[in-house]
Amino acid sequence: MATNKKPGNWRKRTLAVRGGQTRTPFQETCEPLIFTAGYAYEDAEEGEARFKGAPGFQYSRIASPTVAMFEQRLALLEGAPVARATATGMAAVTAVFLAGLKTGDHVVSANALFGSCRYVLETVLSRFGIETSFIDGTDLNAWAAAMRPNTKLLFVETPSNPTLQIIDIKGVAALADKAGARLVVDNAFASPALQRPMELGAHIVVHSTTKWIDGQGRALGGMILCRQDFFDEYLNLFLRNTGPALSPFNAWLQLKSLETLDLRMKQHCENAERVADFLAGQKKVAKVLYPFRPDHPQHNLARAQMSGGGGVVSFEVEGGKPAAFRLANALKLIDISNNLGDTKSLITHPETTTHQKLTAEARAEQGVTSGLMRLSVGLEDPDDLCEDLTQALKVA
Ligand SMILES: *Cc1c(COP(=O)(O)O)cnc(C)c1O
Repeated sequence: MATNKKPGNWRKRTLAVRGGQTRTPFQETCEPLIFTAGYAYEDAEEGEARFKGAPGFQYSRIASPTVAMFEQRLALLEGAPVARATATGMAAVTAVFLAGLKTGDHVVSANALFGSCRYVLETVLSRFGIETSFIDGTDLNAWAAAMRPNTKLLFVETPSNPTLQIIDIKGVAALADKAGARLVVDNAFASPALQRPMELGAHIVVHSTTKWIDGQGRALGGMILCRQDFFDEYLNLFLRNTGPALSPFNAWLQLKSLETLDLRMKQHCENAERVADFLAGQKKVAKVLYPFRPDHPQHNLARAQMSGGGGVVSFEVEGGKPAAFRLANALKLIDISNNLGDTKSLITHPETTTHQKLTAEARAEQGVTSGLMRLSVGLEDPDDLCEDLTQALKVA
């Protein structure tokens, strides 16, 4: 395989289109989708050399050409030395914890988390004698107070799902450095178009590439981005031998999606801001959460570490669950779906879907109330979205 032009001092938007591309001898302009489980060697010596680390591929559980392009391109966009793709976002999160921790280690995590991340920390890791302290992630003193001599990983999702809490990545990374621990940031809600945690000091970034990176609701995927030391010491052999590999087809879709990520995110942010401002003016809406609105509790921090407020708006409908359900059921354009990060606007009621399995206390801690709705704002005309919400709010 011939490598395309070398990324010199290319800027992010150029890297998004060109970064990581390799070409076969056909010199195709579009990145090739290469499906193969294995690779043939010219001779036995070449086989031996590959297993000793010579460039080239051995087996697609370990690495494969199309997946490698996706990894390389996302690494360039995140400013990360290493990237490894996984089958889903949860495979990425789980691999980081299982690879990086052992019995007796301790984790500190923000309590505002995606339900499945909470399950892995609370239920899976505890079986292996790894304890997690859940704290208010917006309070730097709470992070400092929760640290123990055996704390190895700190975990945050920012903005968080579904209450869009913003956590100070620089501040928490500094605490991790002081303690010799590593900060893991789930960057699924922002994407590298809006936030680059490694540049703010995070040691590891995980993604559900299913969301804004795919951007069109087509394929599952995940990514782990990290520094070389974590990869060499913990991750490399774990991934090679446990096999949460991403399909080349999904990698190809999402590699091509990176080319338009920046443009799409700009429009998602613009639409979301419009919808958030519209909702804030509605009588039946008790509260709107959007990171770039001045009434968001961490508004200044959001502006400091993100270049856009993101595509998700959460809001509380007056009248709790019955009103929230009436609103959802009356929508004619916006779909009821627990997915997010699609061109199509999707709405969900977190209490009864994504956060249903949590205890009432855990939901209350995170601000997941009965009237809370999470809206992933798509690329439709925002006037149509506001009209749809207007007629549905009348019914609610
Ligand atoms: C969706 C999501 C995940 C899980 O990703 P999958 O691709 O669905 O496995 C993890 N974290 C956040 C913040 C998410 O939104």
